[in-house]
Amino acid sequence: MSTTTDSIRGHHSILEMLDRALSRSRLPHALLFSGVAGIGKKRVALHLAQCLFCQRTPPNELSCCHTCDSCKQMAAGTHPDLIAIECPPDKNILPLSLIIGDDDHRGREGVCYEMSLRPMVGDRRIAIIDDADKMNAESANALLKTLEEPSANYLMILIASDLDSILPTIRSRCQLIRFNELTQEDVASLLLNQQLVDTEEQAQQIARMSEGSLKTASELLDENLQSLRGNITGLLGRHPFQPQTFSDAVIQAIDDVGGNTGAQRKTAMWIIKFCADFYHQSLQCAAGYQTVPAAEHVERFVSGLPGEVEDRIETIGNLLGRMLQTEEQVHQNVTLPLCIESLSQDLRNIQTK
Ligand SMILES: [Zn+2]
Repeated sequence: MSTTTDSIRGHHSILEMLDRALSRSRLPHALLFSGVAGIGKKRVALHLAQCLFCQRTPPNELSCCHTCDSCKQMAAGTHPDLIAIECPPDKNILPLSLIIGDDDHRGREGVCYEMSLRPMVGDRRIAIIDDADKMNAESANALLKTLEEPSANYLMILIASDLDSILPTIRSRCQLIRFNELTQEDVASLLLNQQLVDTEEQAQQIARMSEGSLKTASELLDENLQSLRGNITGLLGRHPFQPQTFSDAVIQAIDDVGGNTGAQRKTAMWIIKFCADFYHQSLQCAAGYQTVPAAEHVERFVSGLPGEVEDRIETIGNLLGRMLQTEEQVHQNVTLPLCIESLSQDLRNIQTK
């Protein structure tokens, strides 16, 4: 994957820090990038590697030319001095074989072996170990041996979304760099730049619920989830609100996921987020402080509420509060159908009080 600082959002202070470290020749031999999934940690790691490998820019600058052989190899993912590993999608643990080779090649393959070799092209080898928080103790201890023998010839970048799962012995040998979540604006512009959405409105809508993570945003782009969102918020905006229709639709959507309770709870959580977002939009619309024009169904819902502006704002505030309470309940593993039924009744009562 080719990288430029343009494609990296929201991490300018980290880029500056890395640039300063390079200019003073003080880049540690091991870095640990931590922060929630889907915010660009690996992108920054690849950018750093490309800048270090680039044959045209000075090694003490965080910049690359995009035209030399090394830059082209980085763009194609074929640079011989880059060793990048990650947990396969169907596994929960980063396989030991990726660290020290499989049974037949123990000590002759894997990151530890690769990092003991001389650089093939430039002056160093770089390993990017994504999902480092998914190493078991055996893998971590094997990696520790390599980390304990720092060499000017290598740089290791460990990437983790769950810092607590990294052994203290590993952590203490790496320079920790914490990444913040992306802003809503950053997520929206990344979605547009990467052509994951067609319109600004869509980008904003997904970004609002992304919790600063492009990974969460990508999940939200799922067609089924988007059509579910349309259905549910459609029912929510109806006047008068039909509690039975609403709870039937929600429970059906949860049932459609199948028997896996984890997946059911996740779907329930998405639905509640969709509802909370709908009320949040309604609140902004009612108060007249939205930055972009409210969606039509939001406007219709707000204007259909009884009373003056203040009454409407109070009602929507209560609806939103009830939704946030439900979010907490789902986190606490309540029985979903019961929780949804009682939510539906309360939503009606709040609107007809
Ligand atoms: Zn270059």
